[in-house]
Order: sequence, then C-alpha cells, then structure tokens
Amino acid sequence: MKFEQARWITDEDRYEPLLAEKRSKTVSVDADDAGLPDELTRDELTLPSVSEPELARHYTRLSEMTYGIENGPFPLGSCTMKYNPSFTEDVAALAAGQVHPDRPAESIQGTLGVLYGLQEYLGRIGGMDAVTLQPPAGAAGEFAGILVAKAYHEANGDDRTEVVVPDSAHGTNFATGALAGFDVVTLPSGSDGRVDCEALENAVGDDTAALMLTNPNTLGLFERDITEIADIVHDAGGLLYYDGANLNALLGRVRPGDMGFDVMHYNVHKTFATPHGGGGPGAGPVGVVDDLAEFLPEPRVGKTDEGYELFAPESSIGKVHGYHGNWLVLVKAYAYIARLGDAGLTDASAKAVLNANYLASQIEYDVPFAPFHHEFVASADADAADVAKRMLDFGVHPPTTKWPEAVEEALMAEPTEIETKRSLDQLAEAFNAVANESEATIEDAPNRTAVQRIDQATAARNPRLSWQALEFDAE
Ligand SMILES: *Cc1c(COP(=O)(O)O)cnc(C)c1O
Repeated sequence: MKFEQARWITDEDRYEPLLAEKRSKTVSVDADDAGLPDELTRDELTLPSVSEPELARHYTRLSEMTYGIENGPFPLGSCTMKYNPSFTEDVAALAAGQVHPDRPAESIQGTLGVLYGLQEYLGRIGGMDAVTLQPPAGAAGEFAGILVAKAYHEANGDDRTEVVVPDSAHGTNFATGALAGFDVVTLPSGSDGRVDCEALENAVGDDTAALMLTNPNTLGLFERDITEIADIVHDAGGLLYYDGANLNALLGRVRPGDMGFDVMHYNVHKTFATPHGGGGPGAGPVGVVDDLAEFLPEPRVGKTDEGYELFAPESSIGKVHGYHGNWLVLVKAYAYIARLGDAGLTDASAKAVLNANYLASQIEYDVPFAPFHHEFVASADADAADVAKRMLDFGVHPPTTKWPEAVEEALMAEPTEIETKRSLDQLAEAFNAVANESEATIEDAPNRTAVQRIDQATAARNPRLSWQALEFDAE
C-alpha cells in the first residue's frame, strides 16, 4: 500500500473522506419546540460516527495539507514567519485574562495593567511617546497612523494632499495612502537600493503629509542617510512614518524615534511572536511622538494615583477597532517581551541578522544588494515562482518571490532568529538543489505536496471556502 499525503480532490487514491463519509449514523431530532418555521427544521440528522482516534487522525491528516512554521523552516521575506512559543498561549489562556471588555475599569485593573505595560514596552522599544493598541494588523496600524498624521496637519490648518512612498515599499503603504484620501507619490530608489536623497528633495514640498519608510528597507539594507532623510521631510513640513515590519532587525539597537520618525506601527506578529492576523485576530499597535499623541484612537490606557483607566485622547480620530483591541493577541506580545527582556530582544535581532547572512553565504544564487540585515533578496536565474514551487518538494517553505522589483526574479528570504544552523543548512540545500535543476523539472513542480499548482488569481478573487464547493463543481 503506498502512502500519500492527504488531499481533498476526488482522486480515488488520495481522497481524504469527510468524517460523515467515513461512517455516519442518522438520528431523529425533535425540533417542534424550537419555535422555527417548519421549512427551516429537519426530522432527521446525519452525523459522523467515528472513534476518537479516527477523529484525531482525520484532523492531523488535514493539517498535513498545508505548510506551517511547525512543519519546517519558513523564510518568507518581509512577512517574518516566526515560531510563536507556546508559553505565550499558556499566558493568554489564564482564567484571570478572560474578562468581558464591558466590565468597569475598577474591576479589570489587572487587564488594564497588562495593556498599559505593553503600551510602555512598545513606546520604549520604538522610542515613541504614546502608543495605541487598537489596530488589528500592521496594515490597519498604517491606516490609523496615517489618519493621525492627517488629523495633525488638519489641526494646524495645513492642507497637505500627498503621501510619499519609495518604489520598494510594501503594497500596503500605497494602499494606506490612497485609502486615507491622499495622492500617493512613488519615490524611485537609488542604484544602491536605498532612498536617493536628491530624488527625495524633489518629491517633497508643501503638499507632503508624510514619507512612509521601513528601515532596514525591503532589500534588508539599512537606510544610512536616515537622519538626512528625516531633515528633508521635516524641513518640508511633513511627518516621517515608520513601517515597523522590519523592526526585528533593529530590536535593542536603534529606535525609530531616535532616527527621526514621528509615527510608526508595530507588527507584533513579526517582531514579538503573536499570530499573524490573516483577517482574524491580529494586532498592529501604533506609536507616536508627543505632538501627535492627542490624535490617537480611543480608548488608550492611562495610569493615575487611583489605578489604571481608559481615556480618549483630546482630539482622537475615534475608534479603529472594538474595545481595547485584540486582547488575547496583545497579552501574547506582552508575555514575549517580558520573558525576553532587554537582553533577549537585543539577542533576537543579532541572531536574525546572523541567520540571514549565514543562509545567504551558503546559497548559490547571486545576492546583488549588500550589506543586508535580517533579510536578503537573491536573484533566481529561472522564473522565481517556479523555483519557489520546487522548493516545496524539498520540505521547506519558499521565500517571497518577485518582490522587490529592484532584483530580477527576486527570492526574498528571512529565516528569522528562530532557526538553528541545522535548519538553515536544510534551507540552503533546498535552494541549491533547485538551482541545479533543469527548467523542465522546476516548471512542473511541486509534485510531492498535497496541492500542486493552483490558479492563484482565481483563488484570491473567487475563493471557495467550503467543502460544499466540491459538490457544486461536481454538479
Ligand atoms: C507585513 C508588512 C506590512 C503589513 O503588515 P500586516 O500586519 O501584514 O498587515 C507592511 N509593510 C511591510 C514592509 C510588511 O512586510
């Protein structure tokens, strides 16, 4: 009998049956008392009838149909796929943390204390004076941060209509500027992959509300001219926005606030090991310098002689999420920072940079831009998407592909600090095995995974999120 990974297509050999298809039992139900119209109720219900081991194995097999950080290395550049230590889950599961957010502040002092503590930690780490924990993702943090910048200019009677974004920036930066009602001006990068100060001088002016920048940038390069960049933006009356996605490279070493940034978001899932939101519960706190604090979303957590309290900043842009933000995500970020402490956070950034540099030194692909920090962008000599698909056959997750565009057929890798030398070597082996294969082989990949090539555009635009879609297809 040959073994194959589970998969969910009607291919006899590998089809993973639904639980009800394995074995089921029909039971009668009495819905008369439910108070529902007859056409909405049933007399019989067919339920799966399987043993507990069968149930556990079914879900374990389904879990094999995808690839996660718990399956192996996951060097998805810019996305920072870090393992979430289970102790943070234990902390989030403590009974004391399960409080209803409508409870009065006096009765949830412990909860508010943790939120206040996280605001303080993040402020200290980023060099920011005030922090909101409300936004539910990095992109949502960007949006809130740019709305704060907009409110600041408006309060000064300053009508500024443009947000400047480098061409190497993450797509969410462009979307944020546009969604907040600004014209987005794209800043071309210099030939060394960094911000070109002359181009920046030309791009900013009386209309500039903000420059959005990540540092190190998406090529992993530190913007060495950052203080000059800050001066150029500030002299034009604009604000400097820090996209915190790459903070993992700087933790404990350099702070955005000290580099001249006025407002930033923290991708707690990229830097402090919390779940990526993926549309679900995530967090993207925003920090600002004093001048912008009065515009932050409400509520924030404050501390008085009587204890912790919720308050609305004076000229708040309002709410960007219900209640205090995603508490169970925030408590994990708090636990992670508290456990690592100053020395641990500094050590994490050292290892993240070391691991990226070690991995790059072991692979045969060319890495055109250096010196890089926590991530690097290699250039594939074949179609980068084919290389990525083929890497899956070697049991590793591929890097980010085809972005940033400054590198041809980009493979953007970020192993993070969590990987050991052994798993970095495993990654390098996968890179190099694929580098030495023929185009015909990689065009056909992957072959050993549960799912082969999918039509990504259709999958994104017309998602079928239910097994029932299979039945519709069959019909
Ligand atoms: C991930 C990322 C974002 C967006 O953050 P999300 O938390 O995924 O919404 C923004 N900028 C950069 C550079 C990123 O890598």
